[in-house]
Amino acid sequence: MLKIVNCDKIIRIQFEQELLNVFARYCADSFQDKTSIDVSMRGEKTYIFPCADKYEYLNLVNDKVRFMAEVVSKLGEYCHATGHRSSCKGAVKYTLAGFRDNPRRTLTGERQEEYPIRMVKCSDCKQRFSLLPSFLPREKHFHINIIANVFQNMLLFGQSIQGCLQNLKITGKGVNSKQTILNWLRWIGALHPATILTRAGVIGSGYLQEDEGFEKEPNLRTYSVVMVEPKTLLVWHADYVDHVDEDTLCSSFEAFISKVSFKILGITKDKWQASTNALKAVMKNVWIGYCHRHCLKKFQEALFEYQKEIKCSKAEVESLYKQFKNVLQTSTSKLVLEIKIGLLDNPSFKHPLLKKRIDELEANAVYYTAHMSRKGIAPTTSIVDNFLKTVKRKLRSVESFRDKPSTQALFRAMANTRNFVPFLSGAKNAYQSPFMMAEGQTFGLPWIQVMNIHNAFLFTEDAF
Ligand SMILES: [Zn+2]
Repeated sequence: MLKIVNCDKIIRIQFEQELLNVFARYCADSFQDKTSIDVSMRGEKTYIFPCADKYEYLNLVNDKVRFMAEVVSKLGEYCHATGHRSSCKGAVKYTLAGFRDNPRRTLTGERQEEYPIRMVKCSDCKQRFSLLPSFLPREKHFHINIIANVFQNMLLFGQSIQGCLQNLKITGKGVNSKQTILNWLRWIGALHPATILTRAGVIGSGYLQEDEGFEKEPNLRTYSVVMVEPKTLLVWHADYVDHVDEDTLCSSFEAFISKVSFKILGITKDKWQASTNALKAVMKNVWIGYCHRHCLKKFQEALFEYQKEIKCSKAEVESLYKQFKNVLQTSTSKLVLEIKIGLLDNPSFKHPLLKKRIDELEANAVYYTAHMSRKGIAPTTSIVDNFLKTVKRKLRSVESFRDKPSTQALFRAMANTRNFVPFLSGAKNAYQSPFMMAEGQTFGLPWIQVMNIHNAFLFTEDAF
């Protein structure tokens, strides 16, 4: 019996790996050929407005007066003015321009549904635009909530692609091709998280936690680079690089800050010198704080070695740890920290194993006390560490991607879902998404429709 279970598991892993290889090849091809990204002029000429209910939509679309008052007159509040003629002075006023020739057909699972789509005309440049309710995604033929469900299961709950496919089949959603799911993954991972958040009008606090995760792959060293805002838990940067030297990190950070409209004020990180240098080079006058947890862990490891060598009591070790922790956590400035180190009179701290840690603490006193002088700086990188753990788990189940564009798409997909999906009940921030905690506008819509309305699925560069 055990054998059969194992065998089944192996087949599943192999299957999953093969699927992801297909995804990798598929992404590599389509990223080389830029024109194949799902962009058509129709994307730019389609505006999304908040409406989650199909019956409400059908009423609205058949009532000209209400449609003008409740949709057209409010377009400016949630639509980016794309697709106008360059001579257009800006979308000041729209008039109704009938319906699209073909109604929009959408698969809801059991059947196909049809929705008439209203059009409007810009009174300045005379361009025509389609108006889509938020439950209809641009360019996709499935109901957006079905797609959302797949993302949640796959990117947050660790379900495999094969598992998602099986689920959809069981519930009769009519998704028969793994290619469909791979397309969806690439779709939600097309834009960088900062691009989407900026489009949605979110302005960060300027304080972030940064870390790189080493993702082990055979004969390959690859790293994830992530930045999370501790206050809102928003993932602002998610990248995948093959080196963590200063130059590579500089490019990654530069790409990130070109996408945000706020200044980066302070960052908590570990002691990796290359990333400290890169951050300082790219972000002018940024404050750097070193993570206390990393520091305590190193001291604990040193204590462990020390105890093995000296054979001192457990109580002695605990007391040393407590004193060290106290110095680290209660020092309000570089000077105070130096004084407190001077006051450590237990001779054990002179032992080379422990002295090395004390010296490190002293040498980086400015960084270890930065959170005291700048309120936004977090004392640890705990939030970015948590996110990296999720990423690592997912990548492990993926085994090996090998090519960069597809892994980057998967990465951005993970960041984007994390930002918009509300936490489950029982969690500390139950029913709140990071986007909601950052006071992003949701119009009371389900998370994927919130992304849709903020043009997370409009893949044109100048959609601002
Ligand atoms: Zn216009």
